[in-house]
Amino acid sequence: MKGTTYDVARIREDFPILRREVNGHPLVYLDNAASAQKPQVVIDTLDEYYREHNANVHRGLHTLSEEATTAYEEGREVSRRFINAGSLEEVIFVRGTTEGINLVAQSYGRTHLQRGDEVLITYMEHHSNIVPWQIVCEQTGATLKVCPIDEHGQLVWESFEALVGARTKIVAFAHISNALGTINPVRRMVEKAHEVGAVTVIDGAQAAPHLRIDVQALDCDFYTFSGHKMFAPTGVGVLYGKKHLLEAMPPWQGGGDMIKTVSFERTVYNALPYKFEAGTPIIAGVIGMAAAMRYLEEVGLDRIAAYEAELLEYGTRRLQEIPGLRLIGTASQKAGVLSFVMDVAHPHDIGTILSHEGVAVRTGHHCAQPLMDFFQVPATVRASLALYNDRDDLDALVRGLEKVRRLFA
Ligand SMILES: *Cc1c(COP(=O)(O)O)cnc(C)c1O
Repeated sequence: MKGTTYDVARIREDFPILRREVNGHPLVYLDNAASAQKPQVVIDTLDEYYREHNANVHRGLHTLSEEATTAYEEGREVSRRFINAGSLEEVIFVRGTTEGINLVAQSYGRTHLQRGDEVLITYMEHHSNIVPWQIVCEQTGATLKVCPIDEHGQLVWESFEALVGARTKIVAFAHISNALGTINPVRRMVEKAHEVGAVTVIDGAQAAPHLRIDVQALDCDFYTFSGHKMFAPTGVGVLYGKKHLLEAMPPWQGGGDMIKTVSFERTVYNALPYKFEAGTPIIAGVIGMAAAMRYLEEVGLDRIAAYEAELLEYGTRRLQEIPGLRLIGTASQKAGVLSFVMDVAHPHDIGTILSHEGVAVRTGHHCAQPLMDFFQVPATVRASLALYNDRDDLDALVRGLEKVRRLFA
């Protein structure tokens, strides 16, 4: 799709699920931050892989295995390009963001942290970027520190600066918050962490579908994201790590593919990135993810970001017109997310009524319970955007919310 105008109607045609009806209404899919829909090209790629090429990789000398290996390794090059990593050795395929963070916590964290050291996260992290650090802190005696946020859901920079100190060894934070949509000043955060020699781990789960990612420009040490939130299949994701760090890290899981030679006395580990890819990898997932990345590059991530910013602004304005609705997360830099509560009804009731109207949103704590405590709400309703949403979707959301008000007021 080339040209200057963003043709959302044309993009919607690429996503077959958007043609279906739900409860007698056209589907309005606004739960993209939980998982995004798949374009036809991803579905076709998976279909073709299983019909024509399926075999294990890196093993057989037969034709199918060679084809599968070639497609899988092409997926690594597409992923490298997608995040502008310096080399293929820095691109490790994982199950998703959760596995990426656990890998870093257990391989890097466990070998580098000691009693007295600190791991710094923020108040707006997903449970996936909290619990793995709690586990490794317990294992090593390190301490978990949490940087506060303000009432808009933005990092308090002065606190961040004060918390990064000589004891800080790892700083882990979301690029974009899944519950609030806040875009963190990640470049500055990396710079600050590097001043004290700490390594940085960026949770990019919400950034990959919305922004152009450039790990070299960010200079982050680790960056991870999930395929399923950026229009690829579930069960696959990427962990980027700087080569010198990955090289010095012990393997996380042992098994096939991650070894060079094995004897009962001694095993020699494979080179990067295979050292971290034990067992049969997520072959179809990687190939499908590469198709999703190519699709995003074709539409253009900068154009997607610009279009979504406009859509977010429209949605914010419409929601603010609804009496008794309170937006949770009003950062000046935001992407993709409209989180809110209403005075007349509990988020779960709102979600149920919206579903009757064909509108899919998420209700709950969004895997960020500490954040809900901070805003003193048990849960929120979250409408989250993707490149195929349009103003009609947001109008349908607003009509549903007006119905909620009529029913509960
Ligand atoms: C979804 C999400 C995760 C977890 O991703 P999985 O795909 O479930 O591993 C982590 N962090 C953020 C910000 C997310 O949105």
